[in-house]
Amino acid sequence: MARKKIVAGNWKMNMTPSQAVELVNTLKPLVASDEVEVVYCVPAVDIVPVVEAVKGSNVVVGAENMYFEEKGAYTGEISAAMLVDAGVKYVIIGHSERRDYFKEDDVLLNKKVKKAFEAGLVPILCCGESLEQRETGVTLDWIRLQIKSDLQGVSAAQVASMVIAYEPIWAIGTGKTATTEQAQEVCKAIRETIAEIYDEATADAVRIQYGGSVNAENAAELFAQPDIDGGLVGGASLKADFGKIVNYK
Ligand code: PEP
Repeated sequence: MARKKIVAGNWKMNMTPSQAVELVNTLKPLVASDEVEVVYCVPAVDIVPVVEAVKGSNVVVGAENMYFEEKGAYTGEISAAMLVDAGVKYVIIGHSERRDYFKEDDVLLNKKVKKAFEAGLVPILCCGESLEQRETGVTLDWIRLQIKSDLQGVSAAQVASMVIAYEPIWAIGTGKTATTEQAQEVCKAIRETIAEIYDEATADAVRIQYGGSVNAENAAELFAQPDIDGGLVGGASLKADFGKIVNYK
């Protein structure tokens, strides 16, 4: 089954609303593509202007986070329903920066994944190992554990529609990319884990991204791997280079 490649930018805590609109307009001609789905995951305050600014283009908008409760006294949080109403399609869940700085664990992330689906959002679920875990040889076990924990109670049909991003923590924002072999090995293991929990058809359908210092130079080789269906891109998503990553061929 042919999976459509998906390249998502993770803007992190960058871009004021006016800068965001300027960036969208600059990137518009550069990210045009019939073959690749393009997503901008933007800070909450940028969502409304960016949804407006991408109208008529091939770009859809994602959020960088959400909370699992429906609504109520959760000061500072954003609900899935708010994101949907604002025009958001995707939501990043479990980025390593949220796991690390904001102490988000797999129990919480599982709730977020389920809530995202319930509201009609598509999760981009992140997983990844630390340098220490890689060096001690537990990478694949760790990734399998994250995937199994975060997807508890999620149906096969839901998994088939979602995106999983493999992001080795040591490669994020460091300029240190995983080798193509390392990235493919883990993305393949993720697909095998999905086949094990669900079935081959679900594993075949789920899109798996690599993330971690993806740039205009390494995207083509990474995205050509059989189990890598695109990338989650941080730093390079804020530059004209993002167009080269989308049009990597
Ligand atoms: C990310 O934030 O998900 C990421 C991969 O960042 P960078 O591309 O800057 O390493």
